[in-house]
Amino acid sequence: MIRENIKKVRDEIYDTAINCGRNPDDITLCAVTKTVDASAAQEVLDSGVTVLGENRVQALLEKYEVLADKPEWHLIGHLQTNKVKYIADKVSLIHSVESLRLAEEIDRRAKLANKIQDVLIEVNVSGEASKFGIRPEDTEKLLEQIAGFSNICVRGLMTIAPLPEKEGENRKYFSKLRELFVDIQSKKYDNSNMDILSMGMSRDYKDAIKEGATIVRVGTALFN
Ligand SMILES: *Cc1c(COP(=O)(O)O)cnc(C)c1O
Repeated sequence: MIRENIKKVRDEIYDTAINCGRNPDDITLCAVTKTVDASAAQEVLDSGVTVLGENRVQALLEKYEVLADKPEWHLIGHLQTNKVKYIADKVSLIHSVESLRLAEEIDRRAKLANKIQDVLIEVNVSGEASKFGIRPEDTEKLLEQIAGFSNICVRGLMTIAPLPEKEGENRKYFSKLRELFVDIQSKKYDNSNMDILSMGMSRDYKDAIKEGATIVRVGTALFN
């Protein structure tokens, strides 16, 4: 079941990319395993997916005990400052940096782990009050502040769009994030190398690809 679902999603990613003139190799599938156990996550890896995303630190740690460094781990959900220490030596990308305080702690823990931590800035482009992420207009200020942190590399931007009723509905948010991304890319902040746009989930990843996503985070569509 998982295997078939993965094939289907990968085919859709491929077709969508080709149809909008993009190289399918430029789009990474991050399989979001938050609703399944480690054995299902192992099945995902066996199907050839290499990146697993978890939104909670505790769940990531539990699966890490079983799968260790086999996958490339991405922390995609809200991250509390006091939990950075548990994952700093385990994750390759943190999608959800949204404050100076969090960035500061990531920098500190990355130094201790002797690594440069790749991160994305989470931007709340839809403006929904329930969403984490900084306001688009505050993004550059945070980048200027992070530019002083030598153990962080900002690789791009991430957003979580509202749950769409129908296809096409979220394109405006993805397009807004891409515009912000392109604008920031041209400014070349220190300790940043902007090449990742993380946007799109089960219900809207095709729209996200059409707007330039380089990572799509898909859970439900793989495990139902
Ligand atoms: C759960 C989650 C996803 C995956 O959502 P689906 O709709 O199940 O594909 C993607 N990103 C984040 C941050 C999540 O928490």
